[in-house]
Amino acid sequence: MQEHNYWLITAEFPKTEMRPLPSAVDVAVIGAGFTGLSAARTLARRGAKVVVLESETIGWGASSRNGGMVLTGLKLGVNKLISMYGREHTRRMYAASLETIDCVERIIREEAIGCDFSRCGHLEVACKQKHFDDYARQAEVIAREFNHELRVIQKKHLGEEIGSNIYYGGMVDEISAGLNPAGYAAGLGRAVIKAGADIFERTRVENIERESRRGESGWKISTSRGELWAHEVFVGTSGYTGKATPALQKKIIPIGSFIVTTEVLPEALAHELSPRNRMIYDSKNYLYYYRLTPDRRMLFGGRAAFFPENDQTIHRSADILQRGMIDVYPQLRDTKIDFVWGGTLDFAFDMMPHAGEIDGMYYALGYAGHGVAMATYQGEKMAELIAGDKPDNPFIGIPFPEAPLGLYGGKPWFLPFAGMWYKFLDWVS
Ligand SMILES: Cc1cc2nc3c(=O)[nH]c(=O)nc-3n(C[C@H](O)[C@H](O)[C@H](O)COP(=O)(O)OP(=O)(O)OC[C@H]3O[C@@H](n4cnc5c(N)ncnc54)[C@H](O)[C@@H]3O)c2cc1C
Repeated sequence: MQEHNYWLITAEFPKTEMRPLPSAVDVAVIGAGFTGLSAARTLARRGAKVVVLESETIGWGASSRNGGMVLTGLKLGVNKLISMYGREHTRRMYAASLETIDCVERIIREEAIGCDFSRCGHLEVACKQKHFDDYARQAEVIAREFNHELRVIQKKHLGEEIGSNIYYGGMVDEISAGLNPAGYAAGLGRAVIKAGADIFERTRVENIERESRRGESGWKISTSRGELWAHEVFVGTSGYTGKATPALQKKIIPIGSFIVTTEVLPEALAHELSPRNRMIYDSKNYLYYYRLTPDRRMLFGGRAAFFPENDQTIHRSADILQRGMIDVYPQLRDTKIDFVWGGTLDFAFDMMPHAGEIDGMYYALGYAGHGVAMATYQGEKMAELIAGDKPDNPFIGIPFPEAPLGLYGGKPWFLPFAGMWYKFLDWVS
């Protein structure tokens, strides 16, 4: 088994040259993941002089490491959303979540990105009877309030969707899609360069301070490779948000998520496990998510350890996830695991995506495991805002909470307790 991101062996990233930073730009984008790349593409196509500053390499963060599930909906269920924001605002948020999938599909088509994008739909499976009972209620609210069809699948028909009999039923959304995330990140990187923006890899932003130049307000940005001045800053650092943007760091909890992939499966077995090739996740808080890869491996992920990825958490996760996978699919008892890796998710304290301005800098983050589609969409919407448009973005301006009593400065000491709390919730709910 290799402790390595499987997707990286399937994608070729554009090469960037090590050259000096420009002295001044219109917009400096921090982070070369889906958020930053999508924003840079839109801004450069609008004629702005843009740089993307990335401390590692293009797509290095969560964007090349994820499950490639392009999902409708948000982390929180619709009833919870309605109780937090009211019907009308939730309707706009839900419509935006559907639009995110079209946004990804459109960019892939416009840029001819080869990343196995397919509208295969997603399947959520119920780990308890009461979770299944809730599906019918959710589907009814979503059909009535948002005019969107979800299909509830009774246990007796679940075999048409999944080759596992441990679940109490399921719910399908045909609008969701799947893709190869590293292929998509690489393609977005190429699109950004083609649009005329510059990507600087191995360039860590260390400090950002206000500085006016020739009467124009802006920012002095200090990086590991020198300084530059930008009229505007857009932060797209998600789960890797650090000290350079302390106000955001305090609002984001970095949470590890881990994935194993098996060896390539025989065609008949792959078909038995996932006859409709759906993107699948279960109804727990401490959830599993899984799918077939385009070359027919089972990709199986979960929050096997709450801490972000390091050698230890990755190693431990391989066993935990393999056991979880066999619980779901006993057919895979003798199947070899070829790859294991991890990455960091970005959770806000209210589990909602957030976008807007903080301390005068633009940002979008907090995707809570739903970032493939939402990050792409937020990058584009925020770029339109920076370019002077007034795009509808229902995630701007919603309350963006910090830890209660200010008990968090960016070091997530409470993660072991949060992990236990989620396990406890799964046990009682
Ligand atoms: C294991 C895993 C599985 C997932 N599965 C799914 C899924 O199936 N579907 C889904 O929708 N979402 C999934 N997600 C979430 C999704 O991948 C993310 O929400 C999304 O990729 C976030 O994109 P981003 O561009 O905002 O952040 P990232 O891709 O994390 O990029 C942030 C970048 O910022 C850079 N950076 C940070 N600080 C600095 C600095 N100071 N200077 C310069 N650069 C900096 C980092 O190096 C990094 O490359 C998963 C995440 C993980 C980790």
